[in-house]
Amino acid sequence: MPRIRQLPPDVVTKIAAGEVIERPASVVKELLENSIDAGATRIDIDLDAGGTELIRIVDDGCGIDPDDLALAFSQHATSKLETADDLFRIGTMGFRGEALSSIAGVGQITLQSRTHAAASGCEVKCDGGALSDARPWNGTPGTRLEVRHLFYNVPVRKKFLKSVATELGHVCETVTRLALAHPTLHITLRHNNRLVYDIPASAGLTDRIALFFTGEVRDALYELDSGAGPLRLTGFIADPKCDRGNSKLQYLFVNGRWFRDRSVAHALQESFRGLLMSGRYAIGFLFLTVPPDKVDVNVHPTKSEVRFQENSLIYSLVRSTIKHRLLKENLVPHLTVPQ
Ligand code: ADP
Ligand code: MG
Repeated sequence: MPRIRQLPPDVVTKIAAGEVIERPASVVKELLENSIDAGATRIDIDLDAGGTELIRIVDDGCGIDPDDLALAFSQHATSKLETADDLFRIGTMGFRGEALSSIAGVGQITLQSRTHAAASGCEVKCDGGALSDARPWNGTPGTRLEVRHLFYNVPVRKKFLKSVATELGHVCETVTRLALAHPTLHITLRHNNRLVYDIPASAGLTDRIALFFTGEVRDALYELDSGAGPLRLTGFIADPKCDRGNSKLQYLFVNGRWFRDRSVAHALQESFRGLLMSGRYAIGFLFLTVPPDKVDVNVHPTKSEVRFQENSLIYSLVRSTIKHRLLKENLVPHLTVPQ
């Protein structure tokens, strides 16, 4: 056995990037989350070749102070967390301070940013972890981040990327999730200079649902609200007549963050028991509000899984709220379900 040694920083960065950055859609997710945390009202996304050649995100958020630009690329450097206790009252999308350093380890970045108070902004480039000196930049307030040649220095990862259409599909799904959770954001997505999405700021979730999904779904929505309380469920389900052959239209959010959860998805399905044929899936856009100290979002580097302190309470809340709503529509189980 060789002796134990400390890995060099560039290897550490690549290992960390492996967890957070799997494909272009992961970069888009991290950058969109940063723009949202920066208070952006408009975000423009440009991609070339499914994001493998270029990902450009421009926002009108608060911008980054020139003195902080270099620090933004260091590992575990964040403006969103100070103490370990803060981990249990997270109100921002990001907090791990890993995204920019990870992306910089596997792509070529140009970051341009200007705060609203400053007369001009700054630009830095980061190539394979090597940071350039800051240069003045005279763009409009906000942040403009370009990532070129993703995985140019990690050939194994590059090989795992799928076709341009598949990678673009993943980006579209990422944008859909964030747009559903943030209806007041104006988001555009261009691919190879062609407009894919122009999602205007809208008053609410129904507008967003109507934009992304068919009229049939929009016209069959039932609103959910479990009522005020420390745990709350709001959102929409669709009439069982709009059932689907897969669970893709089951969108789960907790405190404004999209997440994946078998138990909540099961509660949604269970509420429709007797109303759907076997192998069919309900449509749901479920928004949970949970006190931040009762949900751990720091379970996985991509923050797409969470752990609830009171899992069974959440399960019953989802199940009973949806069941009551269906009953209100006189939708009572009528299918014979095998015991
Ligand atoms: P995290 O989001 O977890 O803090 P990141 O690596 O994603 O970590 O970003 C590091 C820091 O860079 C953020 O904490 C934030 O201060 C700053 N930053 C990144 N993107 C933006 C942006 N679009 N607008 C303003 N500040 C940003
Ligand atoms: Mg972030």
